[in-house]
Amino acid sequence: DRRVEEGNGVIIDERLFTFINSFDKGNSEFLDELEQEAKRDYVPIIRKDMQNLLRFLLRLKRPLKILEVGTAVGFSALLMAENTSEECQITTIENYEKRIPIAKENFKRDNMEHRITLLEGDATEILPRLEDTYDMIFMDAAKGQYIHFLPNILRLLSDGGMLVSDNVLQDGELKESRFAVTRRNRTIHSRMRDYLYELKNNPVLETVILPVGVGVTISVKNGS
Ligand code: SAH
Ligand code: MG
Repeated sequence: DRRVEEGNGVIIDERLFTFINSFDKGNSEFLDELEQEAKRDYVPIIRKDMQNLLRFLLRLKRPLKILEVGTAVGFSALLMAENTSEECQITTIENYEKRIPIAKENFKRDNMEHRITLLEGDATEILPRLEDTYDMIFMDAAKGQYIHFLPNILRLLSDGGMLVSDNVLQDGELKESRFAVTRRNRTIHSRMRDYLYELKNNPVLETVILPVGVGVTISVKNGS
């Protein structure tokens, strides 16, 4: 019974993982290239199984306005742009100065700069200032902050909107007892538990927690 720990995250059966990924139809030539560059440069990007899930959700939801928290070098923003209609606009937030110019350059390389707006700065400061509503929000930033972002995320999510959060089971430790984790990780651990609890118990949300990639939640918002 061989197991693989995918991206230091959820532990899944290696043969099952390989079998599922053998069906992957891949992305555009540009995204495949960008994925290789990101791997080479140790830039974190969504993995194959999350890519597949996102493409599926985009087809299902057909969003026209997407908000992303955590651009990195723009891989997932471009995957979302390529898998939505020309009318779909994407706003994405990144605060790491070294990655911002690379992301902008990648949006140009893929001829998507007219569809993607990069907001530079800390999501903690940017989110409260946003006034638009979004029919899809992709949370893929520092996982210890998700719980603090949530009130603004809920305000910015349209009625019927979908919230996808990545990395929610990262480190494979969340399912362990609070005391089995190191002190250093304890804060993130308990904040992520709070986040999952809130997603599951907030009356305007219906949420599923999936052991995909490094743990994903999909939530739908319905008014009252
Ligand atoms: N979504 C990207 C990967 C994002 S990695 C992809 O799949 O291609 C997470 C990114 O979130 C990092 O680049 C990090 O700098 C950024 N980040 C983390 N906390 C942030 C915050 N509070 N505000 C803005 N960006 C943040
Ligand atoms: Mg991620």
